[in-house]
Amino acid sequence: MGASRNAGERDARCPGTEETIMKLIDPILQFHEELKIIRRAIHANPELSYEEVQTAELVAQKLTEWGIPVIRGLGKTGVVGVIRNGSSPRAVGLRADMDALPLQEHNSFAHRSRNEGKMHACGHDGHTAMLLGAAHYLSRHRNFDGTVYVIFQPAEEGAGGAKAMMDEGLFEQCPMEAVFGMHNWPNAKTGCFGAVVGPMMASSNEFELVIEGKGSHAAQPHLSVDPVMVAVQIAQSWQTIVSRNTSPLDSAVLSITQIHTGSATNIVPDSADMIGTVRTFTLPVLDMIERRMREIAEHTAAAFGASVKFNFKRNYPPLINHRPETEFAIGVMKDVVGEEGVLVDIEPTMGSEDFAFMLQEKPGCYVFIGNGDGAHREHGHGLGPCNLHNPSYDFNDELLPVGASYWVRLAEKFLEAPPLR
Ligand SMILES: [Zn+2]
Ligand SMILES: [Zn+2]
Repeated sequence: MGASRNAGERDARCPGTEETIMKLIDPILQFHEELKIIRRAIHANPELSYEEVQTAELVAQKLTEWGIPVIRGLGKTGVVGVIRNGSSPRAVGLRADMDALPLQEHNSFAHRSRNEGKMHACGHDGHTAMLLGAAHYLSRHRNFDGTVYVIFQPAEEGAGGAKAMMDEGLFEQCPMEAVFGMHNWPNAKTGCFGAVVGPMMASSNEFELVIEGKGSHAAQPHLSVDPVMVAVQIAQSWQTIVSRNTSPLDSAVLSITQIHTGSATNIVPDSADMIGTVRTFTLPVLDMIERRMREIAEHTAAAFGASVKFNFKRNYPPLINHRPETEFAIGVMKDVVGEEGVLVDIEPTMGSEDFAFMLQEKPGCYVFIGNGDGAHREHGHGLGPCNLHNPSYDFNDELLPVGASYWVRLAEKFLEAPPLR
């Protein structure tokens, strides 16, 4: 998941996590040490997208040990645990991600990465452990009627593991009414929850534009079609798409991050390349931006006698929380950490997240859980901030029983309450 923000809140613990207010589940609290061991084992053995072989093995082995039937191989390394009870045909899905990042860890504490150049710097080790904690409890207590699918997906970091599991039949093999996701959020108070109805994370897209002109001696520019001038004009005009074509009430980013052309001071180059990223919170805004980028590029190039090849690649769609499921999830969070521990209507972020694919097909809600300011890190942590994708990051083990309790209460209440739609 993308860059963290709201770094202003520091130090203070979420008021809802005080012992007196928090309603964590006792057997999960008693299982905290075990979850910590599991989380740290995953942290020490990070695996990249679609290579989560050992992690998937560990997850499947734990689920099996706890008597939970397992579906393997969806999205290559994906694992789904199927926890059934009673006779109700109703079902709900809880999802965690398992992949790590290509990053060299700066921490030197005991559970640091053993795999060179790979690191759990986004807390997916913690997400996996929290969901395992919930699965363990649900399999033992079974205070629900229906099916809880615990979904452990590969390849969240850019390679669309959620989509891969769906393409290989996740929702057909595991029919569910709704699906829920959770991500830790650094610099938000430890154990606080946050969510918002509607767009919460942006779509992530990349583009490449190749401008084909005509090269010449730089002293004879009249014999050229100069792609440098065309690139400059297009770059300037593209910046009017957000300022002039996008409603001021919508959010969008269009960043040109590279312009490449030329090889010498005395040559007008043949061609120029521009690449960058576009982020939006809605698909109509994204459609409009892609269309306007293409129009501006083609017509500007034509005005100069050049031509263009424009390639626009949509990676992750915007993550849009559904109202009934989000209001339901907020109620559950308040039950777990108290009214003060839940931030409703949090600011969306321009980061992106492939759980968005699941929310395009199923109703559901994605939430953030505060990871604290980094003071939880053990001696030997790196000198950088405890932010997502930072080499000094570490997941906060205090969250393990909080997140697991949320998952359990969410599943139990979801299956107990009348259907939301
Ligand atoms: Zn990430
Ligand atoms: Zn992440």
